[in-house]
Amino acid sequence: MSYQYQENLALDAQQRYSVKLKLIGLDICPYKVPADTWINDPKQWPVFEYQEVFHYLIKHPRTHFFVSGWIQTVFHMKTDSGHYVLKADVKPSWRVTEEPHHPWVALKKSGPVIAAHCNCMAGLGETCSHIGALLFKIEAAVRRVYIKHLYRPPM
Ligand SMILES: [Zn+2]
Repeated sequence: MSYQYQENLALDAQQRYSVKLKLIGLDICPYKVPADTWINDPKQWPVFEYQEVFHYLIKHPRTHFFVSGWIQTVFHMKTDSGHYVLKADVKPSWRVTEEPHHPWVALKKSGPVIAAHCNCMAGLGETCSHIGALLFKIEAAVRRVYIKHLYRPPM
């Protein structure tokens, strides 16, 4: 992933990107955050439910939406303003040799999506299939963690 992602965007896309980062309280682009900052632990994620996926994708129908691709491990980090940024690589499902896409989403602690981004369409991808796939994976993982927590077998 290019560390100069933001700098290489067209000017209007760059401005839109800056607005998103400001919205979630990040000073630097998530693509620049060092690998050891990201945590792999679904138990720490916000309670993210199906309705939030639906709300985000229906409220922001910027592109045709469908879930595709193979999603890899989801990592998260917490911003100084208390929001959560989650990211994963999504491999194109039909060609193994193709470069993975890099969606990230920012959630409030209570669940709603504040912002999302993907590098698949020159900075304009805000509800592409990769973001959709990431949101559905987060929702499913949170549901599993939540159910496990509620129905812990007696010791
Ligand atoms: Zn995408």
